[in-house]
Amino acid sequence: MPVVLVTGAAGGIGRATVELFRREGWDVVAWDVQPHPEPPPGVRAMQVDVSQPDQVEAAMGEVARAFGRLDALVNNAAVQITKPFEATTPEEWDRVQAVNLKGAYLVSRAAYPLLRAAGRASVVHVASVHALATSAHIAAYAASKGGLLALTRAMAIEWAPDIRVNAVLPGAVDTAMLRAGLSRGHVQGETVEQRLKALAERTVARRIGRPEDIAQAILFLCDWERAGFIYGHGLVVDGGATIRLSTE
Ligand code: NAD
Repeated sequence: MPVVLVTGAAGGIGRATVELFRREGWDVVAWDVQPHPEPPPGVRAMQVDVSQPDQVEAAMGEVARAFGRLDALVNNAAVQITKPFEATTPEEWDRVQAVNLKGAYLVSRAAYPLLRAAGRASVVHVASVHALATSAHIAAYAASKGGLLALTRAMAIEWAPDIRVNAVLPGAVDTAMLRAGLSRGHVQGETVEQRLKALAERTVARRIGRPEDIAQAILFLCDWERAGFIYGHGLVVDGGATIRLSTE
């Protein structure tokens, strides 16, 4: 059975990704900084902070002993801080980059020998539409996701042809992170539900994304039969949110 490692696996998109890969017959290693509430059967859940090099190395050693290889790595763990730029402290800035960007670097670097051992393997970074266009009060997060997209291209060049590195750029997806981010007042509505509805109306699809929408795109990019000629790509999965000109 092929083996995938998913980070941020206890969150909305991470959990949907874990469940989809399980349904498709993969062995799944699930990392999160939080304890995993009821990991699905057959999933090896581990508590790991991806921003900590020692934890990443030690946990990857366990993966190596258990499986000996990795066919796919999904760098999905992230944190978001929503604040005016000038109110963002150096500690907050560092934390966002440490998890979202350095974490992807640390986990990818530690996974490299296991990805090589698989023969053909894939890495998918979960970036964001904030890598392409953004809004007020989310600068540290947007910068981390822009960096992740640049890292995708850099890694894709160095690790080709046998390891394909790509990114998924989700738009608004209904998870805890999105709901928390809606408090920064960039979307009209008194309640979170009203704001979600307002966001949905701005997409071409007329709905908010489901975690499963992103999981399917990740699975596609990991599949050598379907996506074997795709390298260094940033696949936008946003219900059309970013195709509309905001000036017209
Ligand atoms: P989420 O908050 O539900 O999940 C994020 C998970 O990452 C959490 O389980 C959290 O515990 C984990 N995490 C945080 N710091 C970590 C660390 N140091 N080490 C290991 N795990 C850590 O959010 P989500 O919406 O499922 O986000 C998943 C990914 O999708 C993130 O990369 C996020 O930036 C991206 N994304 C989400 C949206 C959206 O609208 N939900 C849009 C664009 C991109």
